[in-house]
Amino acid sequence: MNVYDSDRIKDLLKPLNYQLTDDPAQADLSILNTCHIREKAEQKVYSDLGRLRQHQTNRRQQGDEMLIAVGGCVAQAEGEEILRQAPYVSMVFGPQTYHRLPEMIAQMTRQKDARKGRGAGRGIVDTDFPVESKFDSLPTPQSSSVSAFLSIQEGCDKFCTFCVVPYTRGTEYSRPAGDILQEARRLVELGAKEITLLGQNVNAYHGQAPHLSSHGDQEWGLGRLLHELATIDGLHRLRYMTSHPRDMDQDLIDAHGQIPQLMPFLHLPVQSGSDALLKTMNRKHTAKDYLDIIDRLRKARPDIAFSSDFIIGFPGETQQDHQATLDLVRQVDFAQAYSFKYSVRPGTPAGSMDGQVAETLKTERLYEIQDLLKEQQWAFNKTKVGTVQSVLFDRIGKVPGQILGKTPYMQSVPLEAPKRLLGCLTDVLIKEAYANSMMGIILDSLESISVAA
Ligand code: SAH
Ligand code: SF4
Repeated sequence: MNVYDSDRIKDLLKPLNYQLTDDPAQADLSILNTCHIREKAEQKVYSDLGRLRQHQTNRRQQGDEMLIAVGGCVAQAEGEEILRQAPYVSMVFGPQTYHRLPEMIAQMTRQKDARKGRGAGRGIVDTDFPVESKFDSLPTPQSSSVSAFLSIQEGCDKFCTFCVVPYTRGTEYSRPAGDILQEARRLVELGAKEITLLGQNVNAYHGQAPHLSSHGDQEWGLGRLLHELATIDGLHRLRYMTSHPRDMDQDLIDAHGQIPQLMPFLHLPVQSGSDALLKTMNRKHTAKDYLDIIDRLRKARPDIAFSSDFIIGFPGETQQDHQATLDLVRQVDFAQAYSFKYSVRPGTPAGSMDGQVAETLKTERLYEIQDLLKEQQWAFNKTKVGTVQSVLFDRIGKVPGQILGKTPYMQSVPLEAPKRLLGCLTDVLIKEAYANSMMGIILDSLESISVAA
């Protein structure tokens, strides 16, 4: 979602004649769009700010200015504290107020002019949760990648006890369906072939139906929205993330069996396989509920594969709880997954729970779970050897001459192939599978290009 927000910030600043630069030392304005989900992400902000300050000092010595702004969830959570720790920062804004950035820049510039070269003065902090959604003030996208993001829902009312999202992104909000369809059409006009719908709880989506909605619906759920998006010509792939098991309703499960553009790969975080921990996490589902949903999805779309998130070492986690998580992993057999050590977040209930798990034990358990998940991922990749996969090439690879694409299962396929294939869905015969990528031969090209991982 921060990638989506950063793209919107770029669009907002274009009329002010700002362009992206690859070189932070040359920037007139540096913006850190930050994440607060785990402590590590937060610590990075202050070390990055230290580096930016050096650039700012160098520029000032040459008579140039560099404004520094901090946006995103760390900004929301820390607010004034950022100005106290880093007084050289000019603007601090949260995820719901970035549309006001042009005004903030104008205000800082006015202050600077009034101070006649004695610096820009005290910074601005805007961590409001406005009643009017920022989406109403954002310009239409000016550019799109082949694989685009589209935020349809934000915030969360679920208050899992480990999580900062409800405090930093605010309460749950769904954009009107008509606005989403319009933005999706625009992205496709700009070259998008794949759209990933985004939300902290994307499957809790319940947006206002367009005025002319058939069946007289007042609101659309995610299943309905996906059906409508699938009618857009030129939009070949649809995905959505991140979902909560509680909001996987039958409409949405059915959509997986009905919409060919909806990719057979779903990221569905479970966090733990232990019912006792799921309860103290306030997830409001059991391991069995999760397994049932997986079964129903497999019935609707037999070739579907899953990814998930796991929190390891949540307060009170016993060896038995840990085993329950390993058991769940074995039962589902994931194609991919993310696992994290529990990280205490300020102001969340789990931060002050008894039974905090020792760091060494967290690390031990994390490695155990990651070994199993990696094994499953590699085994899943191997099942695709000898099959033909449709690959959407969406970017230039790091190795010269290479382009990078993704299978329907988000597996990465780096190939030595001409750039003209960027944006093309191409059939690739998979020859070899690795832990994190696959290798193959392009089938629908006369050149029959051989490839390297
Ligand atoms: N809405 C999604 C998750 C959004 S947060 C859901 O309900 O599942 C993204 C992921 O960050 C979570 O799935 C969780 O695994 C991880 N996460 C959130 N808070 C964390 C914390 N305090 N420590 C470690 N991981 C955390
Ligand atoms: Fe955080 Fe997801 Fe729980 Fe909401 S549902 S509190 S975003 S983990």
